[in-house]
Amino acid sequence: MGTPIAGTPGAAGVAVGPVWRYSAGGTAEAERKPPAAGQPGAASAVQAAALKAAGQLEALAGRVRDLGRPDEAGIFEAQAMMATDPELLDEAVSRVEAGEEPASAVRAAADAAGATLAALPDELLAARAADVRDVGARIVRILLGEEIDLPGVPSVAVADDLPPSVAAEIPPGFLLGVALEGGSITAHAVILARGLGIPAIVGAKGLTAAAASATTAAVDGASGEIVLDPDPGEVAEFAARAAKLAESRRAAAALRGRPGATADGERVALLANIGSPEDAPRALDAGAEGVGLFRTEFLFMKRGTAPAEAEQVAAYAAAFSAFGPERPVVVRLADIGGDKAIPYLDLPAEANPFLGVRAIRLAAHGSRELLLTQLRAIWRAAGRAGVTPHVMAPMVATLDDARLLLELRDEARADAAATGDPLPDGMVTGVMVEIPSAALIAAELARIVDFFSIGTNDLTQYTMAADRGNPALGHLQDALHPAVLRLIRDVVAGADGSHIPVAVCGELAGDPAGALVLVGLGVDELSADAGSLDGIRAALAAVTRAELDDLAGRALAAGDAETVRAMARQLLDRPGRALDGPDRTSME
Ligand code: PEP
Ligand code: MG
Repeated sequence: MGTPIAGTPGAAGVAVGPVWRYSAGGTAEAERKPPAAGQPGAASAVQAAALKAAGQLEALAGRVRDLGRPDEAGIFEAQAMMATDPELLDEAVSRVEAGEEPASAVRAAADAAGATLAALPDELLAARAADVRDVGARIVRILLGEEIDLPGVPSVAVADDLPPSVAAEIPPGFLLGVALEGGSITAHAVILARGLGIPAIVGAKGLTAAAASATTAAVDGASGEIVLDPDPGEVAEFAARAAKLAESRRAAAALRGRPGATADGERVALLANIGSPEDAPRALDAGAEGVGLFRTEFLFMKRGTAPAEAEQVAAYAAAFSAFGPERPVVVRLADIGGDKAIPYLDLPAEANPFLGVRAIRLAAHGSRELLLTQLRAIWRAAGRAGVTPHVMAPMVATLDDARLLLELRDEARADAAATGDPLPDGMVTGVMVEIPSAALIAAELARIVDFFSIGTNDLTQYTMAADRGNPALGHLQDALHPAVLRLIRDVVAGADGSHIPVAVCGELAGDPAGALVLVGLGVDELSADAGSLDGIRAALAAVTRAELDDLAGRALAAGDAETVRAMARQLLDRPGRALDGPDRTSME
């Protein structure tokens, strides 16, 4: 028998495979330091690191090609060439020779190469800017001895925590599942797992010690179980679970192409959350009716300078064009600062970053231009793609925050118009409701904005005063807590007063039980990871408006999240639930 360990369900799915262990740090400080600037060997250390990076990327290309994914292999091959590009290396070496530290010289050289590419009018070439910066980051990691020994075969990742930057390094298809000793259900690794449709469990106490010598693992993301070194009987049992899950996923997938609706035909728009334009095909395949949350942080993080306007225009235009004018894409202004350290913003470290200077608050702290540039880029991208832009600001706490958004929007349009580019007439402008104060003044906010999008991840964190990344507080992080639901009820009531729509884009929207409660409370749109859309479409197709009204009434009166979840599960699990609902027009 293997070693079973219980965790908390993070993302549904079942996987059995080799264990890949990840632990942060661990390299002695002395080993990490490359030769300092000006010392003999500094320039050749840069060259050796670049060669090593090229070798890694070529190997990665070969593995991905063997898996039958020539397109991805092509990306890694091109990156391997970038790593030894003479211009990049000459720039880095001459900076080192002028006295710059090797790591910062490589970073600066890669940023400069990226900026040159980003400024090119050809969108495809401009999109390579991120690739060259990624190559720079890889060389820097090698120089600093911070390399990650990535899995060489498809594996189950076992870690205390898996930072998104590391997860992003793992080639597609090589991550079968994620099991974390720490983490919470809103941890970014879990969001990523949901996005990939792979299982994730979190809060599995004792996991990393127990897995120190394990070679294989079986994970069930729905039950939160992991078995280390499972015996053949356990492997068979997990295989049976995987088959059952695949069957219910097939049934739900059969409803794709239908717009979201209840069994009695009440429409609920089902939208996708995306993190970059590359996520568009997956979202469209999943039947997304648009994008309810385009997280734009990917453009701003892991780099030494702010992204240029042209690079942003290319990224937003790519997303707008992928979805076209009939499927709106809601771009969220960068939710950066706070816990997401951005070196080029030079913000002081804060004792409570989740309560600090971040997102829209940056405008009043020296980064107004950063947000204006982003808004200009959105105006221009929408003009280029021929769509009406939808934009929302995160972390809005006051009416003044919302007014500031409208002011920046108009100022950005006036600036963008001066470029002579074609621009759309208007921008559909909304705010995220993820701070309790915004929920409590929803009626006033609704008079000045066009829509609300409720971020249940942060709304729960701030309502319950429980850090969303702290696994010790997992019991306080369920957004189905009646305290959070009562705020959502107030948001819907406030929005109704001004006839504006309410979406939910936090993780609760992608949870079938959560989706039923939210629609019961009167939410109009649900935006979730593409991998969750089948499940919530099927859940809604099996219930009537009256049943949801009844569920919402009972949920609001409940005393805790567990009770609400059990009520919703009763509806979901009742025997013979009709998945089909009445005939409805197809979306296509
Ligand atoms: C949220 O807070 O619910 C949300 C959608 O935003 P993020 O998870 O990016 O903070
Ligand atoms: Mg948020």
